[in-house]
Amino acid sequence: MNKPNTTVYKEIHQKDFVEREMQPSSFIRIDDVGISNDRLSDLLEVIEKNSAKAILGIIPTRVNEELRDLLSTFKCIEIAQHGYTHSQLLPPGEEKGEFSETLPIHENERRLDKGWEIICRNFKPKHKTFIPPWHTLPPIKSLLQKNYELFSSYGNKFKVYSNGSRYILSAPVNLDPVKDYALKKFYPTKAICSSIDEVVARYGYVGFLLHPNYLPENNLNEIDQIIQYIISKYPVSFFSEILKEGKQ
Ligand SMILES: [Zn+2]
Repeated sequence: MNKPNTTVYKEIHQKDFVEREMQPSSFIRIDDVGISNDRLSDLLEVIEKNSAKAILGIIPTRVNEELRDLLSTFKCIEIAQHGYTHSQLLPPGEEKGEFSETLPIHENERRLDKGWEIICRNFKPKHKTFIPPWHTLPPIKSLLQKNYELFSSYGNKFKVYSNGSRYILSAPVNLDPVKDYALKKFYPTKAICSSIDEVVARYGYVGFLLHPNYLPENNLNEIDQIIQYIISKYPVSFFSEILKEGKQ
């Protein structure tokens, strides 16, 4: 990412970087791609049919030929790295996630490198993007040093971090429609559509999160309706388009 000419709300100086807020854009993110691909193609067909766009968080160690072939048939997607193994390193009740500020830097960086290498070997990512598993980030200074251009966790503000020579954009999701992960139960469609309007009114965008292995049981009509609702009211962007805007 070149020096971004963004809307600057405020600037915070930290030890390792400067942090600025930036004008947000709406997007759809699909996480955990690779854990179970059974319903992924149905979901992507809904996205493609509606001329929507989605960013896929792919788990590197779950990539196989079947997934590669499947994804090569869709034009509505962009590729991002979702961790390395996506496994939890510490026992339940303690810090979650395979990445963390509390781990040694070299361990975070080793996992970043190995994961990105698999993504590049199997796909043609347009930019270096990281989606932290369990929303647990490695240190931002590591992402900057490793030339990542964008990361997407959970939150409600777009930010740009810079260490003086490099820039990274943070574009977090802010809406998860799953009410109960154990039961794979969504909130009612009407409630989700109102929540979409609420988060856009409050934060200026919706970053909508889906998991292919946590979709409503029977069919994807609800997802279809929600996707139609989002794109009829709020244009959704690929991360590459958001990064491009930041560069202008
Ligand atoms: Zn995940």
